[in-house]
Amino acid sequence: MAEEGQLAALVAACHWIGSRGWCPATGGNMSIRDGEQRCLISESGKDKGSLRAEDFLAVDIASNRVDDVRTPSAETGLHTLIYRSHPAVGAVLHTHSVNATVLSRIEPGPALHLSGYEMQKSLAGVSSHLTPLAIAIFDNDQDISALAAQVAGRNQRDPLRFGFLVRGHGLYCWGRDVQEARRHVEGLEFLFQCELQRRVLEAR
Ligand SMILES: [Zn+2]
Repeated sequence: MAEEGQLAALVAACHWIGSRGWCPATGGNMSIRDGEQRCLISESGKDKGSLRAEDFLAVDIASNRVDDVRTPSAETGLHTLIYRSHPAVGAVLHTHSVNATVLSRIEPGPALHLSGYEMQKSLAGVSSHLTPLAIAIFDNDQDISALAAQVAGRNQRDPLRFGFLVRGHGLYCWGRDVQEARRHVEGLEFLFQCELQRRVLEAR
């Protein structure tokens, strides 16, 4: 079973994310690891700001199999990939914020490079604003298996840390538990807003 309190913490994180406007119109999806073989992921089509504990359903991490009459998020394959690739990850949060959506379209390259921000230290293992950060960006694809294959390939060459962006779509981010994943979402969203404003002002 999921560690006691993690599902309640995930529900609270979903309500907080909803209140920040980062998952409009039922967008986004959230999960926690539930033992070695399963994760609990939000049901498809639910408003993230008003999710309840019973709106999460179990999915097999290895096979994506669901023993439930309900349908999990359409992007379940990305969550299970993250749990398979990173055994220490305990929670995955996926948001559709304006800043992540716009910045990932403005940046044409395969990564968003950030440096010089004190708030980089909100990310696990980063101890200085001078540590260069590269947040991978993947082109959006409605074929989640194809998108997951892209993410898996990049992760094998250069292991992903904290999260990645999907172009014109949003942010995937994770942590060893809900609390760390939530701090990563907040830190990254802050950095995205700063970077977007910096680029807009410098372009004037
Ligand atoms: Zn999405």
